Amino acid sequence: MKDKYEAVIGLEVHAQLKTKTKMFCGCKNEFTNEPNIHVCPVCLGMPGSLPVINKKAVELAVKAALALNCKIHKKSIFARKHYFYPDLPKNYQITQYEEPFATDGYLIIEKKDGTKKKIRIKRIHMEEDAGKNIHEEHFSKVDLNRAGVPLIEIVSEPDISDPEEARLYMQKLRDILVWIGVTDGNLEEGSLRCDANVSIRPKGSKELGTKVEIKNLNSFRFIEKALRYEINRQIEAVKKGEKIIQETRLYDSQKDITKSMRTKEEAEDYRYFPDPDLPPLIIEDEWLEEIKASLGELPDEFKERVIKEYKIKEYDADILSRDKTLAYFFEEAAKSYKGEAQRVSNIILSDLLGILKEEKIELKDVPFPASYIGELLNLVDENIISLRVAKEEVLPEMVKTGKSPKVIVEEKGLKQISDTSEIEKIIKESFKNNPKAVKQYKIGDERKKQKAVQFFIGQVMKATKGKANPKLARDLIIKLLEEEN
Ligand code: ADP
Ligand code: ZN
Ligand code: MG
Repeated sequence: MKDKYEAVIGLEVHAQLKTKTKMFCGCKNEFTNEPNIHVCPVCLGMPGSLPVINKKAVELAVKAALALNCKIHKKSIFARKHYFYPDLPKNYQITQYEEPFATDGYLIIEKKDGTKKKIRIKRIHMEEDAGKNIHEEHFSKVDLNRAGVPLIEIVSEPDISDPEEARLYMQKLRDILVWIGVTDGNLEEGSLRCDANVSIRPKGSKELGTKVEIKNLNSFRFIEKALRYEINRQIEAVKKGEKIIQETRLYDSQKDITKSMRTKEEAEDYRYFPDPDLPPLIIEDEWLEEIKASLGELPDEFKERVIKEYKIKEYDADILSRDKTLAYFFEEAAKSYKGEAQRVSNIILSDLLGILKEEKIELKDVPFPASYIGELLNLVDENIISLRVAKEEVLPEMVKTGKSPKVIVEEKGLKQISDTSEIEKIIKESFKNNPKAVKQYKIGDERKKQKAVQFFIGQVMKATKGKANPKLARDLIIKLLEEEN
């Protein structure tokens, strides 16, 4: 029965812009636990105060819109959206309504099976954030530090077909916005917020059903879970012959359900009109070109380029392209390595990140330059250390001290032993101590012979604390065992 219906989803995402000051006044845009310290007559909505547009906020908003392939409109209008709530001292929010600064964009998500899907973006507009209400037992408090913080709202077309796509869209959006530096992208802390609109319809139908908006989705997992619950709820309701009503529902992550919050208000209720205190926003061509030029490489562009230029696996390029610091750390490291870049990716993704996680250090705080990773692998290729010593001894020490691999190898005496006569001496010694194993090699079949060789490699490694050149040791062991015969 379930597969008679399909879901239609559209997301509305708010992102706080990383500016120094608020959208329309000089107050600090900075999170703090001390309430009501970043406030002034403008963001407190005092009569007679006048808003002034923050140029940096517009720049970041335009950057985001460009990265999302939007059309940028030279002229846009700020409007007042009226509603009455204690966290909104002016009783209206300044936003953009009929004439937003950006429309008609898209982003591309990649599904687990590798297929790509384009999700269109209907519009992006700029607006100011509201304050925060804090509810205690017998009273409520209002903190207006957040009132007037610059936001962009990114509205997708209803192109999303299931909860997983919704999560992928949100993740991709976050990755792009964080990469270009317009937002922190932290869902838990609310610098990125997602409202999900969802309806169902008979499979194959072209008409849209009545949509429900879900709020309070502060993690990627909750977006997926809430939508899954809500789609089921709607299907069950329709099957019972009930009608879906247009409403706003709240996700309760504890119970994993959505609950009705209010029936959806109509646009007319807000009494939108152009804000007479603000002139039209004009984005001059010259400035737009400057912003375009400052955008730099985007995650998908980086991914495509490193696959071509460095011949690394698509899987690795995908992980690298999700974090700008990681991406360029890899590239710096790869540049200083003489061998195949895939090995650089391997050691970064599986070894370095593991150590950092254990030591609770972020990549951006690593005390050595990325080029040291290349140098470390060069030492392996030059047979100065083994890969095992590189990963297990040198790399952790680099993270701890920031010293170069060369210095660490020198100081800790980790140089690989590649001196034939020295290794031969050790091998002969171990033959003397283990005559049984020598005999096993002499009279045994191929499998026994291999076992004996393996045993002596172990002995040599033990005697040299893992520093013997493994290939040389192996070759010498076989040669000397043959000579024993
Ligand atoms: P409203 O005017 O009610 O805010 P919009 O047309 O602005 O509605 O759309 C808000 C969001 O809801 C968009 O992300 C859009 O893609 C999505 N949406 C619109 N209609 C539907 C629908 N029938 N089902 C699911 N999502 C929808
Ligand atoms: Zn202010
Ligand atoms: Mg809307």
